[in-house]
Amino acid sequence: MKDIFDKCKLGDLELNSRIIRTGLWQTQTMREVYEKYENIAKSGVGLIITELISLYPKDKFSEYSIKSNYPQFMIEAKKLAEISHSHNVPILGQIEFIKYDRGIDRDIDVNDLTLEDIRQIQQDMIVVAQKLKLAGFDGIQLALGNNFFLSKFINPYFNQRSDDYGGNTFNRMRLVLELIKVMKTNLNFHIGCKVNAFDGRKGGIDARESIEICKLLEKVGIDSVQVTKPLSPLYFTKDANENELIEFSQDLIQHINVPVILGGGFNDMKHMNEVINNTDIEFLSMYRPFVAEENFLEKWKDDGEGISRCKMCNNCYRTKTSTCYHY
Ligand code: SF4
Repeated sequence: MKDIFDKCKLGDLELNSRIIRTGLWQTQTMREVYEKYENIAKSGVGLIITELISLYPKDKFSEYSIKSNYPQFMIEAKKLAEISHSHNVPILGQIEFIKYDRGIDRDIDVNDLTLEDIRQIQQDMIVVAQKLKLAGFDGIQLALGNNFFLSKFINPYFNQRSDDYGGNTFNRMRLVLELIKVMKTNLNFHIGCKVNAFDGRKGGIDARESIEICKLLEKVGIDSVQVTKPLSPLYFTKDANENELIEFSQDLIQHINVPVILGGGFNDMKHMNEVINNTDIEFLSMYRPFVAEENFLEKWKDDGEGISRCKMCNNCYRTKTSTCYHY
């Protein structure tokens, strides 16, 4: 029998449990953030993925993100890594952007990127990854899912380029594959990717192509894949067979040898144990339960059961705050 509190390995990372804490918005003071990371890290979590780390200071969500260009960024990142590691919890930085910032022009369509723009994006991402490596992070997670810029670049619904970066799946993935190859060669740390299981738009990425995308990512050496969908899943039903992301993850696991993390709205320990025991899924990510109560896993571990006190109202997601509306 598998248990969510099993010690395990996610690629090269040693985890204290199968639970991945995914972050999203960041609106607290750093003092509050340090306290939160301390509570989460000591609660029994397996891996911490930070809140969004924005690449560009004037990007759409930068206001609610960790800003990679801030002078204090390195000091703060180093502190977060120290806190996590003091509880033997590895930490990945989640790097994303919504709109490419060319300076004067801050909303460039994927089809209008020049080769110089593509090289600049790759370079900007590598610089942030280098900073996180220097700060002591165990790796990064690249946001290729939801509706972030790169999810559009790799998607035929948006990408109609006629050069080497458009057309078939490999060409649309070229920017990302080149980027990961450089990172893997030079940084020697964990590189995870968050990928949409499917797109939902007519002419967008379907589940079959998403699996092809993950196979290409595996070829360039990524260390983990987190499954999501364009609009983040809110809450899973209790019936594993009915959940399309569970089915997709199960299918994906048959096609790649990279650990797959199922992201989404888990809030019930019993349900989570059912999912990992009834499927080949090994790792589950959670977000809102940690917003509602930072250290709830301690109680779950002691009691052998538990349901998060998160009311699933989704106000924290909607209002882009990293604190709970109710507690
Ligand atoms: S605001 Fe709502 S969804 Fe967010 S953590 Fe609180 S109860 Fe859960």
